[in-house]
Amino acid sequence: MSQSSNFILLGLAPVFLGCIALEAWYLRRRAIRSYSWADVGSNATLALMQQAGSLLVAAPLLLLMQRVHAHRLFDLPPAWPTLALLVVTQDLAYYWQHRASHRIRWMWASHVTHHSSSRLNLSTAFRQSLTYPVSGVWLFSLPLVWIGFTPTQVVAMGALNLAYQFFVHTEVVGHLGWLEAVMNTPSHHRVHHASNDGYLDRNYAGIFIVWDRLFGTFTPERERCVYGLVHPLHSHNPLWLTFHEWIAMGRDAGHARGVRSRLLQLFGPPERALGSAAPTDAPAAAEQTPLSAR
Ligand SMILES: [Zn+2]
Ligand SMILES: [Zn+2]
Repeated sequence: MSQSSNFILLGLAPVFLGCIALEAWYLRRRAIRSYSWADVGSNATLALMQQAGSLLVAAPLLLLMQRVHAHRLFDLPPAWPTLALLVVTQDLAYYWQHRASHRIRWMWASHVTHHSSSRLNLSTAFRQSLTYPVSGVWLFSLPLVWIGFTPTQVVAMGALNLAYQFFVHTEVVGHLGWLEAVMNTPSHHRVHHASNDGYLDRNYAGIFIVWDRLFGTFTPERERCVYGLVHPLHSHNPLWLTFHEWIAMGRDAGHARGVRSRLLQLFGPPERALGSAAPTDAPAAAEQTPLSAR
């Protein structure tokens, strides 16, 4: 979203890459085939595309946040309580952004990319979309700067939230005891990426799983996760992974009759997609099963 966000994530890149190498080595020694060159290649390409896209929109978004911050409700002092409040409120904003990204097709069109792999490992965290700014994820940051957090604080915290989430994309870590009650853990996020019955649209947490428990979207990991979309894409092409749902959505909106139906195709829940004839989502729409098969 801004330069500082990119710098934080790029600065941590050696840590991320080191952990990926370590996880790949560990899994290979145990003959677990979680990594493939094609999958990691598309994850890396998508990460670079997303970073380039966020650099392009950084300046106007920062300007918008500064405009909103000029009308802030409170002057928050740069002190520890403000930082603690930022950690909690930014994570709450992330929860709703993520939930909206699964329940509003315009936002799912971007977020589907993150869920399009049938594998889950640390490199999956890199699988992001170039089109997030078009989907409007930045809207969820505006209340924070309106409350009184500075744009730099909000953007930096957003990057740290994403950095935390890198570590929950793994099958190597099992249950973490009492931490499972409070924190988003690998176990909780495995459920989020799974397409098993009962696992769809669950566990939207960024850092704290308490939001899912509070707002009724929590499901513990009970059975082995099957990762990816309900109707897999079978593609490693970063462009197709990025734009396929936008294309389907545009086609559906074009075929819809009347303004209300068109708006439903763009902003309704993904399972209301008209494109029931499309090979990737036909049964989902017909059976009213959420397409958002994290
Ligand atoms: Zn994820
Ligand atoms: Zn998700």
